[in-house]
Amino acid sequence: MSAPEKYPGSRRPLLVKKFGGTSVADIERIRKVARLALESQREGNDVVVVVSAMSGETNRLLGLAHQVLPLPDARELDVIAATGEQVSTALTALAIQAQGGQACSFLGHQLPLRTDSAFTRARILQVEQERIREVLACGQIAVVAGFQGVDSNDNITTLGRGGSDITAVALAAALGADVCEIYTDVEGIYTADPRVCPSGRKLKSISYEEMLELASLGAKVLQVRSVEIAMKYEVPVHVRGTFTEEEGTWLVSRETAFEARVLAGLACEHNQARVELSGLEHHPERMAELMELLAELNTSVDLLRHRQEGTQVSISFTLPEGELLRAKPSLERLVDDLGASAIQVSTGLTKVSLVGIGVRSDPWIAARVCRSLARHRIPVSDLAVNELRISGLVEGSRADEALRILHEAFELARAEASVTRPTNAEGAW
Ligand code: ASP
Ligand code: MG
Repeated sequence: MSAPEKYPGSRRPLLVKKFGGTSVADIERIRKVARLALESQREGNDVVVVVSAMSGETNRLLGLAHQVLPLPDARELDVIAATGEQVSTALTALAIQAQGGQACSFLGHQLPLRTDSAFTRARILQVEQERIREVLACGQIAVVAGFQGVDSNDNITTLGRGGSDITAVALAAALGADVCEIYTDVEGIYTADPRVCPSGRKLKSISYEEMLELASLGAKVLQVRSVEIAMKYEVPVHVRGTFTEEEGTWLVSRETAFEARVLAGLACEHNQARVELSGLEHHPERMAELMELLAELNTSVDLLRHRQEGTQVSISFTLPEGELLRAKPSLERLVDDLGASAIQVSTGLTKVSLVGIGVRSDPWIAARVCRSLARHRIPVSDLAVNELRISGLVEGSRADEALRILHEAFELARAEASVTRPTNAEGAW
């Protein structure tokens, strides 16, 4: 996406309000969305609404396509998937009109919202704001379809699952919006998923960097690329619940994070597979081939380790189980080419990650992760620490327990969780 230009004109504050699938799941909820949009407008704001498809709809549409052809053509998939948002967008515009407001809906190609041609995972190149500005100037609410765009040949494209978040944040960046509000079925960003960990605490704020880690490590509240855009253009994002008046969580830059804490929260990614190639010949050329192959798979390979034993090397990494099938032929070919003596695959694993700006600076964090899990006899493997997170693998069946244990061990339910080495006699935490 190219850098946004500030548009001259209206001085009213501009809000982009995005509503996810559960917020537009039925007509009653769409009426609620319309009410919220009109309220904001009456308070003196210009309002742009971005909506997802009604919940379950995108899955239903993609399911239809897969019934016709098991491996459907990506271009056609996008034509089908984009219809979900076409319906919810027009229904939302109608609901606003039904409540006495004025609204106009826009699909991706009508703005246009230009993307590249990577069907099913297109990237935004440019957002045309002319038409939105026109309707706002007439006192209308612009209702924009999330998730979709159009390429330079006028093909319909979609941005990838959860892509309405990307549309919302990109629009907010392009329009120079004062706030991008992401309305969802949870009330904000939590230290841990409250459905699994009842003591999970809603954060007042989180830095873009921490959110990026949490989103890439399995927190589903925001699509990862939307956080990247928010960070790049410093879009003020407020994640909040559709069905509550409460403040949610603000995404802010690291410097302005107004909560003194070193840890943000925990995230889990289930259904991970661990692949280990052992007995590889130690050869730079071969290593480069392996890395290229992993890159080509274009999947989230993580916890990559490289171990040298004499003249031989072993490499292990994780990837989502669902990707294993796709990756397997290439991996087997590689095993032959690289002369690996064995390929070992384990499945049913969960990657548990602790995220926070203080992870790197405190060596006791890794120690505490291991100690607290060991106490409950939960084996953890492949620990990796980087600037913002520490991740490890546990058996899927014990992941929820591990999450609760770590939440407790790091006192994440407290507003100012701190990490210090143990001080009492037994050296207990
Ligand atoms: N409707 C799309 C999906 O289900 C996009 C979104 O909901 O953000 O992935
Ligand atoms: Mg979503």
